[in-house]
Amino acid sequence: MKPFIDAKGLVHEYSRRDEEGNVTGINRALDGIDIEVKAGDFIAVLGANGSGKSTFAKHLNALLVPTEGTLYVDGMDTSDQGNNLLIRQAAGMVFQNPDNQIISNVVEEDVGFGPENMGVPTEEIWRRVEESLKNVGMYEYRKESPNQLSGGQKQRIAIAGIMAMKPECIVLDEPTAMLDPAGRKSVIKTVKELNKKEGITIILITHYMEEVTGADFVYVMSGGQVKMKGTPRQVFARSEELARYRLSIPEVTRIANGLRKKGVNIPKDILYTEELTDILLKIKARGL
Ligand code: ADP
Ligand code: MG
Repeated sequence: MKPFIDAKGLVHEYSRRDEEGNVTGINRALDGIDIEVKAGDFIAVLGANGSGKSTFAKHLNALLVPTEGTLYVDGMDTSDQGNNLLIRQAAGMVFQNPDNQIISNVVEEDVGFGPENMGVPTEEIWRRVEESLKNVGMYEYRKESPNQLSGGQKQRIAIAGIMAMKPECIVLDEPTAMLDPAGRKSVIKTVKELNKKEGITIILITHYMEEVTGADFVYVMSGGQVKMKGTPRQVFARSEELARYRLSIPEVTRIANGLRKKGVNIPKDILYTEELTDILLKIKARGL
């Protein structure tokens, strides 16, 4: 089967210009990216600031076109402008700041805005609005003003607005960066559910390690290149390498590593608090 997202040798160069508009330099933000994503996968892209994550996200939405290499989204070449509309319909985008994504003063109208713009018939719009709001757990807020909601709730409204356009894939560029811990959790939980229950392909861009543990596959970016890839367990077992790319490991993995260094027999790829507590309880039961 053809991958839903297929990047081969993807390069993006930004030109630096002076006041007259003359090119004074080139900034290679993506430097030969190979990424393949199957439909229905939950993929995380990890990377420190400036590693090229947002540039990659913009390519997935055909907001930027490749300087070199190719990118296909749902079989469509992003360098062909004629595909732009269909690509944006196939892969919806959720951005960092929820306030910039709110259009209407009423939640349900906000969520209906996208499908309305696409020319979806009114009855079908209301059906989608209801379904999307239920999917993100915000249906009871449908008559309220988005401005009254918390950051996490606003971000879930933004996700519902994308869902209402029935994309096959949602790209989220650091959707939790401006949220408090509770808001972060609610957004990540929503995203995971959309993937598992609705089969939506998810590309989650983040620098929070804890948000990555549920992904099927992780790509680690640095300096515009993919430096590591694998399952979350495979990637987080390589903590020294992650540190080189200015990334840390989840808190629980760090604690497990610390215990192992002190001689406690714990595997290298602990990702969840429950795993660690289970192991420690077993060790305790054996009286070691
Ligand atoms: P990230 O999202 O991982 O922080 P970005 O994709 O935003 O990374 O940026 C990657 C590199 O491209 C950085 O060096 C950044 O300064 C540069 N960059 C981003 N946007 C522009 C732009 N519009 N013009 C020139 N350089 C840019
Ligand atoms: Mg960014």
